[in-house]
Amino acid sequence: MEDIAQILNSPDLNKAQILRLLSTENPIEIEQLRQKARELTLQNCSEKVYLRGLIEFSNYCVNDCYYCGIRKSNYKISRYFLTKDEILQCANFALKSGYGSIVLQSGERRDRKFIDFLCKTIEKIKKETKSENLPDGLGITLCVGEQSPETYKKFFSAGAHRYLLRIETTNKELFKQIHPKKVSFERRMECLYAIKEAGFQLGTGVMIGLPNQTLENLADDLIFFRKIDADMIGMGPYIVHKDTPMQKYSKYFYNNKRKIYQLALKMISIARIYLKNVNIASTTALQALYPFGREEGLRYGANVIMPQITPISVRKNYILYDGKPCIDEFANDCLNCIAKRIELIGQKVGYNEYGDSPHFKEKAEKNVYKK
Ligand code: SAH
Repeated sequence: MEDIAQILNSPDLNKAQILRLLSTENPIEIEQLRQKARELTLQNCSEKVYLRGLIEFSNYCVNDCYYCGIRKSNYKISRYFLTKDEILQCANFALKSGYGSIVLQSGERRDRKFIDFLCKTIEKIKKETKSENLPDGLGITLCVGEQSPETYKKFFSAGAHRYLLRIETTNKELFKQIHPKKVSFERRMECLYAIKEAGFQLGTGVMIGLPNQTLENLADDLIFFRKIDADMIGMGPYIVHKDTPMQKYSKYFYNNKRKIYQLALKMISIARIYLKNVNIASTTALQALYPFGREEGLRYGANVIMPQITPISVRKNYILYDGKPCIDEFANDCLNCIAKRIELIGQKVGYNEYGDSPHFKEKAEKNVYKK
């Protein structure tokens, strides 16, 4: 078996090496992996952790994904849609807190009313959150699923500049197992290309620890991130939700919880080592598994965190998986505690900045040079 130090010192990783890193359960090797990832984060990004205030503005969804708690057929939750003013209040709160950027996330809808509403909301946020530090207003990342190429262009023109759409898994068979027929792998791929084409910084990612997912699948996922030239990565552990068809895997999930968590952290480190200058989010799902999961994600090579700023009254209805943190009335501690939590692990917060993906910036500079 190849020595881990040798792999970590090679200029690039091949699939066999990625697999070797993914499969290690040796704590000393995992620590070497983590340290290398952290070193490369400092070299290729910055020492700062960037904050994106996460606004889950609607849980209406036309899809019925087998893993997701806000799937169309989950009648146990009440559906909500925040008003433009409510969203704006959240955005202003992010601005005041120095977050620099927000993420607008929702269940999927593709109707005209939804699209127009979102465009107008984006325009309004951009206009009303201009400040000395942010002359163009808050940075806006969208996470509203599959849309038409025209719609992506509209969202971009309205002022959003980053878009997250996870491929969920690059294994077509596995993709089929966790999605209804209507959600196709091919369409998801087309959407990813359309998002890039529209001008967005592209974020994608996968769920880690899905039933039947192999380490080889995860290695292929990492290779795919490079192939599609992603600027941002958002990955997290798969967590069972009791009111979804995949609750039948509860036993598998709870028996493997620790392993899935470790695997998610290793994926972050390997993504950092393999992709170098992309932004990597340490997702809430990590925190759902272990109280300090998100901070651990940062220690393993992530450089972005998305504090919850959805109004507390609706948070309980935006539960994608069981055990989601920060849904009670004390959740506003997040604001103060997030900076402290980051400082506690010896990292710095990047206040009042977009904190865009260095990978995207590098590509943009190369293009200017070519012209
Ligand atoms: N509809 C939007 C955004 C909402 S879901 C979209 O499709 O992009 C955002 C992400 O949450 C999904 O991409 C999925 O990877 C993740 N997610 C959903 N259910 C989950 C679960 N049970 N465990 C872990 N992650 C989950």
